[in-house]
Amino acid sequence: MTRTDLHQEQEDSAMAVTQAETTVLPVIPLRDTVVFPNMAVPLRIGRQQSRAALDAALAGNRQVVLIAEKDSQGQDVKTESLFAVGTLAEVGQIWRMPDGDVQAVLHGTARARVVEFTQQEPYLEARVEAVSEAAPSSIEVEALMRTVLSQFETYVALGKSLPQEAVPAARNIDEPGRLADAIAFSPDFTFEQREELLETFDPLERLRRIALWLGKQVELLEIGSRIQSEVQRGVEKSQREYYLREQLKAIQRELGEGDPEAAVVSQLREKVEGAGMPDDVKERTLREVERLAQLPAASPEVAVIRNYVDWLLALPWSNLTPDNIDLKEAARVLDEDHYGLRTVKERILEYMAVRKLAGEKMRSPILCFVGPPGVGKTSLGRSIARALGRKFVRMSLGGIRDEAEIRGHRRTYVGALPGRVVQGMRNAGTRNPVFMLDEIDKVGADFRGDPTAALLEVLDPEQNFSFSDHYLEVPFDLSKVIFITTANVLDTIPPALRDRMEVIAIPGYTEEEKVRIAKGFLLPRQLTAHGLSAEQLRLTDGSLHKIVREYTKEAGVRNVEREVAAIARKVARQIADGSAKSKVVREKDVESYLGPSRFAFGAAEERDEVGVATGVAWTPVGGDLITVEVTTMEGKPDLILTGQLGEVMRESARAALSYTRSRAAQLGIPSGFFENHAIHVHVPAGAVPKDGPSAGITMATALVSALTGRAVRRDVAMTGEITLRGRVLPIGGLKEKMLAAQSAGIKTFLMPGQNRKDLAEIPAQVKKGLEIVPVDHVEQVLEIALLGRFGRGEKAA
Ligand code: ADP
Repeated sequence: MTRTDLHQEQEDSAMAVTQAETTVLPVIPLRDTVVFPNMAVPLRIGRQQSRAALDAALAGNRQVVLIAEKDSQGQDVKTESLFAVGTLAEVGQIWRMPDGDVQAVLHGTARARVVEFTQQEPYLEARVEAVSEAAPSSIEVEALMRTVLSQFETYVALGKSLPQEAVPAARNIDEPGRLADAIAFSPDFTFEQREELLETFDPLERLRRIALWLGKQVELLEIGSRIQSEVQRGVEKSQREYYLREQLKAIQRELGEGDPEAAVVSQLREKVEGAGMPDDVKERTLREVERLAQLPAASPEVAVIRNYVDWLLALPWSNLTPDNIDLKEAARVLDEDHYGLRTVKERILEYMAVRKLAGEKMRSPILCFVGPPGVGKTSLGRSIARALGRKFVRMSLGGIRDEAEIRGHRRTYVGALPGRVVQGMRNAGTRNPVFMLDEIDKVGADFRGDPTAALLEVLDPEQNFSFSDHYLEVPFDLSKVIFITTANVLDTIPPALRDRMEVIAIPGYTEEEKVRIAKGFLLPRQLTAHGLSAEQLRLTDGSLHKIVREYTKEAGVRNVEREVAAIARKVARQIADGSAKSKVVREKDVESYLGPSRFAFGAAEERDEVGVATGVAWTPVGGDLITVEVTTMEGKPDLILTGQLGEVMRESARAALSYTRSRAAQLGIPSGFFENHAIHVHVPAGAVPKDGPSAGITMATALVSALTGRAVRRDVAMTGEITLRGRVLPIGGLKEKMLAAQSAGIKTFLMPGQNRKDLAEIPAQVKKGLEIVPVDHVEQVLEIALLGRFGRGEKAA
């Protein structure tokens, strides 16, 4: 709203205003301030011009006009730079200052409109008319006054610029115009706002404007205080803790308990001294403790350092259990825990004997137990620890792809921890435990780094006396640890690691062995675990055989243990609820406990068939039967291989075919047969990994059978690699393969002649019931496996 509009409005509202007569009065110009009627204001008057005006007033009736300058700059004020509305005032008390200035109290009496300026020198003088205003009263005025008063109250409460007494003072004003004037004098209103209000002659309008401005002020103050309190809350939280901590300290000091932080630090120092650390480690740790002492308790670094120091303190730097190598006792422990495993136990005892003789000087080789799951690798490790009186810890390496899992993360990472080796040592609590690293064949390398290098350092006796973990930063001595590793297969162990280890193979158990283990070890253990006595639950040999044969299919005894546990659980329940006193589980009862049998005993073919031969394969979980099927179709010559065969097995199939072709005439295969027939070789059963050369003779047998129409004896199983000239080459995993053949009900087992030497190591149990025939040439295989005579009455050459 411009000033001109204002004047317009004032004229419009002239109803409320009565015009007074004009008078000529001295003018005191005001710099940056406005004086309202009904207000006493002390003014310091310094300018010559103003002092002259004041003197003139004092000489007359003490009346002056106070008019604000539009912009106050120069010493002498020109009439043009003054507003057209001012305030009539009476001069009250005056003081003359030593510097010549005058201090005067001026009482505003009424608004005054300038009619004309009558003089400029020696002081300003103007003809003015006083504007007297009637006090309007109506519901609206009342309501507006209340609103303004309550706004003002909030404003005073929130703002800092006015004392609380301003509120009752304002309440005492009963004229709307005066109320507006009084509030406009609050420090938060600007000079321009005040001048605008001075020039507004309608009291109601003044009040409206004040209401508007107050509203804005209150809003500003509210936002301000909200921001403030939010900031405050944030600050308070962190300060609160600080104050509380300080208070706690003060209280404890008062009670004579000393500074708690200092106490913690000195406790830590003591612990470090007593931790048996090597000197350099101790020094390092103490340095960290000192850093801790210097940091304020609230520093985020404190937790990091604390954690680090705690780790250092928790490690068994000097804690050793004495070795008690009594070989007789060790043998007893091994026998007590395990059935059979004669050669394995002997190797372990030899290992201990060497340790005993060589003592500390000996760098212990790393034992590696290789065999299918559940054959007792872990429990052998435990027994070794028990026999030596050492602690036992184990850690699985399966799926580890990151060096940091072994060696830890640097402390700079958030949440960093030492690697698993150091964690294992902490769990062991001694520096010379038996430390089992499981599944070393499942360690992998990828972009996150190769854990093999770290493992090598762990296992290498030349290096592991100062194993470095990224987190610890100080070396840890692993040289007193007996490391034992386990693996399912040898070939996937990184060669560098394999070279360091002494491999002990544990191939798997025969049915008879499993029954013995179940009876002598697994059942007693499950009885104890279920709170049963040997009288309360008995399993006959028959039932155990049935469990092994029809409910499990594995090289080890894990599932046997699980099934025995299932029976124990059910019997324990029957005994607990009183429905039985004791149970004898016979062969015929097994089904009622475990449900229908899961594996058909004797997976051998049911009939003698053409084009189908049975082989035995070795898998990481023991031996298994595989079937090779061959069929021929008229058409373009082709060799189709299916059944997800590995590359070596495919080559083996091609070799078998080439051999058969080269001997076509002798074998009685019609000439020209291969030119117009496609041959399909299929190996069913998807789950069994099918690779390796040992199915060579099985493929050749199936091929010849398909091409000649002679059936293959179903009770014959075979294994052996084939050369192009039909020679049979040796294979691995003989014991597992025989076990598989035996439990499948095979009668005749054909194996490479060159594997004869391995037979000595195979227990009689495994050989029982099998006619084992070593063969050196495929012709021998065909002779035994194929029924009937060769096509044209010829015998294979
Ligand atoms: P692995 O580590 O080879 O997978 P475990 O050591 O876990 O096998 O053996 C599985 C279970 O079978 C354990 O309870 C173990 O005690 C038992 N066990 C395995 N072999 C034998 C054995 N020869 N004599 C007694 N218990 C055995």
